[in-house]
Amino acid sequence: NGVAPDAKNLRVKLVLLGDSGVGKSCIVLRFVRGQFDPTSKVTVGASFLSQTVALQDSTTVKFEIWDTAGQERYAALAPLYYRGAAVAVVVYDITSPESFAKAQYWVKELQKHGSPDIVMALVGNKADLQEKREVAVQDGLDQAEKNGMLFMETSAKTADNINQLFEILRII
Ligand code: GDP
Ligand code: MG
Repeated sequence: NGVAPDAKNLRVKLVLLGDSGVGKSCIVLRFVRGQFDPTSKVTVGASFLSQTVALQDSTTVKFEIWDTAGQERYAALAPLYYRGAAVAVVVYDITSPESFAKAQYWVKELQKHGSPDIVMALVGNKADLQEKREVAVQDGLDQAEKNGMLFMETSAKTADNINQLFEILRII
């Protein structure tokens, strides 16, 4: 299912899905490089990045991250990336109800076509924009719980909860 244990090195294939502009690429960039680039380019098709993190007992976890494009015209390609993924992170923007609705579409898609034992997380990004919030924390929580998903609100801009997100995902 994408997790291949070999001695003390684990590999986790992870895919990010969600509407265009919700901050998927910024989340990955924040996690992998510790940076936030407000002028980041729109992802075309999908991009791949990996990041290895060390656990306390000298085990390492290598995240193989597929960052997909959210645009409709790439939707048909999405299965190429989420098939065989151990972890799927579905991202929405807390200031955009449309992106929250789109997240539900991706969850259904994963339930229909993803690996049966895929671990899914619902992530409400741009949590730094509290004054523009249009999706309540509780709505995110409810949706996640209903679908057996982990839930977290993050900010790629301030780095809030970014490492914590990957921390909860590496324990699977
Ligand atoms: P993607 O299409 O989902 O990959 O979205 P991007 O990562 O390209 O980000 C889209 C836009 O949202 C960019 O202008 C980012 O600067 C901005 N953005 C991403 N994450 C955050 C965040 O946590 N807070 C704020 N305020 N803006 C963000
Ligand atoms: Mg992108």
